[in-house]
Amino acid sequence: MNNRLLIIEDNEQNLYLMRFLLEKSGFAIIGADNGKTGIATALQCRPLAILLDIQLPEMDGYAVAAELKRHSELDAVPIIAVTSYAMVGDRENILAAGATGYIEKPINPDTFVAEIIAYLPEGWKDDGD
Ligand code: MN
Repeated sequence: MNNRLLIIEDNEQNLYLMRFLLEKSGFAIIGADNGKTGIATALQCRPLAILLDIQLPEMDGYAVAAELKRHSELDAVPIIAVTSYAMVGDRENILAAGATGYIEKPINPDTFVAEIIAYLPEGWKDDGD
């Protein structure tokens, strides 16, 4: 089973919390603290899904999502935006940039893992890897 999740997040505390919650649920977490590294890692490690912060240094989450979508080998990999941006239109913008879904910060530890699992491709547990 492919249980790898890539988290592209520049805030150490947010990455720590997401890693903690997801590892506790049996996922293997790969962290990247910037978009460029995140894209390279996605292509190399073929994660089950990508969790993407929007406010990132240099390349923001919109640009990262758009670049990820240019790689057809990642077509089946959901991109889940995780962001504190709560302005009107942000949800639409990140979905337009290629994200599959959207989770708002602050992360709710009681519901976060279930929210991520809801975005995973059907049959992900049976994916031989
Ligand atoms: Mn950030």
